[in-house]
Amino acid sequence: MTALAHKIVLITGGGGGLGRALAGAFARQGCRVVIAGRDAGRLTAAAQEIDAAGGTVLAWACDVGRKSQVEAMAQHVGNNLGPVEVLVNNAGIARAAAFLDMPDNLWDETLQTNLTAACYCCQAFLPGMIKIGWGRIISIASTAAKVGYPYVSAYASSKHGLLGLTRSLALETARLGVTVNAICPGYIDGELTRENARRMAQKTGRSTDEILTLLADHAPQKRLIQPDEIAGLALMLASDQAGGITGQAINIDGGAVMA
Ligand code: NDP
Repeated sequence: MTALAHKIVLITGGGGGLGRALAGAFARQGCRVVIAGRDAGRLTAAAQEIDAAGGTVLAWACDVGRKSQVEAMAQHVGNNLGPVEVLVNNAGIARAAAFLDMPDNLWDETLQTNLTAACYCCQAFLPGMIKIGWGRIISIASTAAKVGYPYVSAYASSKHGLLGLTRSLALETARLGVTVNAICPGYIDGELTRENARRMAQKTGRSTDEILTLLADHAPQKRLIQPDEIAGLALMLASDQAGGITGQAINIDGGAVMA
């Protein structure tokens, strides 16, 4: 058992991809983990898998882009487990489109999921952290929170906004025992990256493997980032030892962005 044991941790988008790796990592520290997402079946399967490995996970179906659903989740978790001590805003969508071809709903849904949902979750769970005088908010942003990339203007805008939320909230909570930070991954070795590579392969006539190599080559380390590497950083930010780190946006991208 570690110092994080028994902490209540809520991870949005915890049913798959990076969120699933984050949930497993916190569960292995002895935390009580809540995973939230829209696909109840996927959440339950992930929770059962982590439980079977000795963790304690509650699956809660929730569209975090809907304030009423976030508030209902906060009430349920508060009543049944207690105040959430570590909130990981991980849920996100990444759809590509040339700016002038971008449908309105792509912009709206991206901002709602990647930015507004994090705002709803912070509003729902921060009061409990303030009450107990301890809390950690960790938002999964992206290197696209710091630099622009073509064909992802909605995504980059939402992630840049997430850093604004992180920095302002860090200042408002600086003397309340709560830290607020963001993690900015480069391309992750996971299904989202593979799906994007498949789409780019179809458009360009190259193979998916070639595209994956191009994405990996984007970083000086010439590789994709493993979900467990990001989970390790999240555990560090959640620890007591990281109490002095707040308002930061930490890249984990093989050296791709140095800002
Ligand atoms: P996935 O697509 O694999 O996972 C995204 C998760 O978000 C899913 O579990 C999905 O669950 C959940 N989600 C999406 N919309 C909502 C919603 N409205 N309400 C609740 N949950 C939602 O992507 P990754 O795991 O790769 O990405 C995780 C985070 O990391 C994202 O914020 C992403 O932007 C960021 N990131 C990813 C990178 C990559 O290379 N993959 C690089 C940099 C950052 P469900 O569908 O069940 O709702």
